[in-house]
Amino acid sequence: MNLTPEEQQRYARQLALPEIGAAGQAKLRAGRVLVIGAGGLGSPAALYLAAAGVGTLGLMDGDTVELSNLQRQILHATADVGRRKVESAAEKLRALNPRTELRLFPERFTAANAPARLADFDFVVDATDNFASKFLIADACHAAGRPYVHAGILRYHGQLMTVLPGKTACYRCVFEQPPPETGAPPQGPLGVVPGVLGALQATEALKFLLGVGQLLTDRLLIFDALALRFREVPVRRNPFCRLCREQPGTITSGYRTACRSGRR
Ligand SMILES: [Zn+2]
Repeated sequence: MNLTPEEQQRYARQLALPEIGAAGQAKLRAGRVLVIGAGGLGSPAALYLAAAGVGTLGLMDGDTVELSNLQRQILHATADVGRRKVESAAEKLRALNPRTELRLFPERFTAANAPARLADFDFVVDATDNFASKFLIADACHAAGRPYVHAGILRYHGQLMTVLPGKTACYRCVFEQPPPETGAPPQGPLGVVPGVLGALQATEALKFLLGVGQLLTDRLLIFDALALRFREVPVRRNPFCRLCREQPGTITSGYRTACRSGRR
């Protein structure tokens, strides 16, 4: 791949990594990553992916920036309060790396739009903040055969897992169904917790595009910010998983039926 002088300077440090080089940079330029959620997780994830030179970045979020977001959602600034998150995010990402093509989706991820959105991307970053979206992403990515990295955060804790649908343990293998909604007001998180986890999600996306290292598959990584510990729990494909076992049972969310027509 021919790199312009500007690219040679911009990516000099990673071009010097033997596992990347010009060939790896070409893979990143050809890479298409969909970041679902432009909040606490999506901010660092999208920033690092754009900085690294990922060619196409999709940003999906139906919300507008609120003042209470700024404690952790570092793509957005005080002057952005009231703006659509995807537009606020795009402005920062364009300033960081105008070479990255941004595709903006100012909408929630739904069973209806999932097949069309997933079709145009190679890898998905689940940067959402609610169980309903996480289960929907797991189901939709399974149907589309699209790899994804899950992250969840709560107070001072985070968890991370990468899924290659049909090959490794899926989100539903580990978490069978959404917990009941408590209606309690959210506590936390400490802003750096999604910062750490979002950066790790970007790490997984880059490794996937580059084909280097070992992905965080069949392992659940658990982060405790207070103790400053990472620990890892091995996970396996659940032979009774309602999503990814050989003959799937009924998905109560109804997603499977809703997206079947759009399946590629
Ligand atoms: Zn499963």
